[in-house]
Amino acid sequence: MAPFPQHLLDGYQAFTTQRLPTEQTRYRELSERGQSTEVMVIGCCDSRVSPEVIFDAGPGELFVVRNVANLVPVYQPDSGTHGVSAALEYAVSVLRVKHIVVLGHAQCGGIRAFIDKIQPLSPGDFIGKWMQMFVKPGEVVEQRNRESMQDFTVRIEKAAVFRSLENLLTFPFVRERVEKGEMELHGAYFGVAEGSLFVLDPVAKQFRSVKELAGE
Ligand SMILES: [Zn+2]
Repeated sequence: MAPFPQHLLDGYQAFTTQRLPTEQTRYRELSERGQSTEVMVIGCCDSRVSPEVIFDAGPGELFVVRNVANLVPVYQPDSGTHGVSAALEYAVSVLRVKHIVVLGHAQCGGIRAFIDKIQPLSPGDFIGKWMQMFVKPGEVVEQRNRESMQDFTVRIEKAAVFRSLENLLTFPFVRERVEKGEMELHGAYFGVAEGSLFVLDPVAKQFRSVKELAGE
């Protein structure tokens, strides 16, 4: 077997000497009592968009699922194996989280692949098939007249958040808790270059800059 990457071992060394001493008590508590997080985050695999880093969260704070383009599938109780649905089931039914945040982001490779209609990367065409869940049957996603490629991309990246939020409500156990007021769904969008965060205003159905909201 190949040696374990040295930079990861170095990182672990830094963790044990710097972070762990300050968080040791918390880890022990979490180990004894189990996790009791109130927030689930559904984000993208993209290495630049780590929910724990963005929200400055410590151990036990966020229950995170990451996949290509932060997508939530439609509720599909069939014989298939559904990773996101399994995590969702656990977060909602066992952890009884109070919030689910769908975190989209700028320069999303999954969205880019979808927009560019790229050729399959392997015979399985896993990304191609995965991204198809973004489109409803009969729906056409196209660049608008006079819309720049940049604006089109951002619009679709944000639409992925809307679609995931919409799909979350197709899960009966999610809808029930949302309707009872026991759980809330939220959308967010992270601008990689600036480290900027936008949160979805559910009434206006628009993303608003957290910085601007704080200044209001
Ligand atoms: Zn992405």
